[in-house]
Amino acid sequence: MSDTIFALSSGQGRAGVAVVRLSGEAVCDVFAQLCGKLPADRRATLLPLRDPDDGSLIDKGLCLYFAAPRSFTGEDMGELQVHGGRAVLARLLDVLSRIKGLRPAEAGDFTRRAFLNGKLDLVEVEALGDVIEADTQAQLKLAQRLATGSLSDRAGRWRKELVAAMSLLEAAIDFSDEADVMTDGSLGIRSQVMSVASEIEAVLDDRGRGERLRDGVTVAIAGPPNAGKSTLLNLLARRDAAIVSPLPGTTRDLIEVQLDLGGVPVTLVDMAGLREAADEIEAIGVARARERMARSDLVLWLEPAMCDQSQAVPGQKVLRVATKVDLEAKRNDREIAISALTGEGLPELLERLVEEVRKLAGAEENILITRARQRIALRDCAEELRRVSSGIADDGEEAAAELQAEHLRRALGALGRLVGSVDVEEVLDEIFASFCIGK
Ligand code: GDP
Repeated sequence: MSDTIFALSSGQGRAGVAVVRLSGEAVCDVFAQLCGKLPADRRATLLPLRDPDDGSLIDKGLCLYFAAPRSFTGEDMGELQVHGGRAVLARLLDVLSRIKGLRPAEAGDFTRRAFLNGKLDLVEVEALGDVIEADTQAQLKLAQRLATGSLSDRAGRWRKELVAAMSLLEAAIDFSDEADVMTDGSLGIRSQVMSVASEIEAVLDDRGRGERLRDGVTVAIAGPPNAGKSTLLNLLARRDAAIVSPLPGTTRDLIEVQLDLGGVPVTLVDMAGLREAADEIEAIGVARARERMARSDLVLWLEPAMCDQSQAVPGQKVLRVATKVDLEAKRNDREIAISALTGEGLPELLERLVEEVRKLAGAEENILITRARQRIALRDCAEELRRVSSGIADDGEEAAAELQAEHLRRALGALGRLVGSVDVEEVLDEIFASFCIGK
């Protein structure tokens, strides 16, 4: 890591101000060459930036220096805030690339250094990525909570308690011929381990809502042909994403629209009408619709109000909606009745939809897990802990105690994987590759 990295950290394209960041040993040298001096640590200083080859002015800009280790990466860092014109940036980046020891940063390079220098753990790295990626307010709130360490802090506390249990267990193994130590130790270990296992299981018991908030909730709009599905999708999306036609069987493939409903990212999918297909192409559409419906988080099942109620609907959670109530107000037991023509019932439908997707995504709750990687590590940890506690024998046999120590060690290993302190080489590239250059 002896090379010094640099990148345009603000967005691409012309802008009022652009930020170029640097990290590494050569930062002081860069300031000396470009500005003729080093700005005071953590003090914004307006300085001219010059090409070291011929002394010509590149731009005048605000310069910041963060001395190691008090910086985002933990290394010496520099920040150059210059005018965000294309020519200014092209010139500045070219000059930087000609300075010895400097290279352009790759995606996630700065954050990778912050991780390797212990400034962030892996959960915080992932959350930081999510802060940058967040499209909706609820996603942002969750990412910020995790970025400020709400899961990392818990993991740290669990680790401490398990290390304490481990030392008790080791004492029990060392003094196994003294029965008192063993019995007291076993009891203490068991309750400590059980309580950590229960806490982790409580965090795991979230029905995947954090992942859903991060990745988005899928809502399928389904029902018989001509029920008004495409019309509703267009109303919700406020644009003509689906072809609306009075002929049954128009929507042959799946049409998806992305929406922000109450802070939750939602993919609305318009399904081909579920009926006996008239031709082969329609049959494919119907088969896809059924498959997608089964995978959706919520199905809005639409049927014209005058239809008799109705077939069983596939899908995990179904909201039955009667459509075209302007024609005939027969509602059966459907929960909501709408008319796309008059607008009746649409505000209620929207309100209900927001309520349901917020519930599905746990937008109101204290969710802590947002990725499968985190879930696997925590599940492994809890499983090992259950093995520890079920295996602790009251008579305190030494062999049994050693087996328990092994389970406890594995549980600690799983916690280590969660925060990235052990065994993470293979996931690092994948995680950092999803970052922008300059972060
Ligand atoms: P889909 O096959 O379920 O997607 O149905 P469409 O959205 O294509 O609608 C079928 C027909 O019903 C179209 O002619 C729509 O204009 C009409 N339609 C949709 N919603 C309403 C409604 O609320 N009232 C009335 N009167 N007609 C509607």
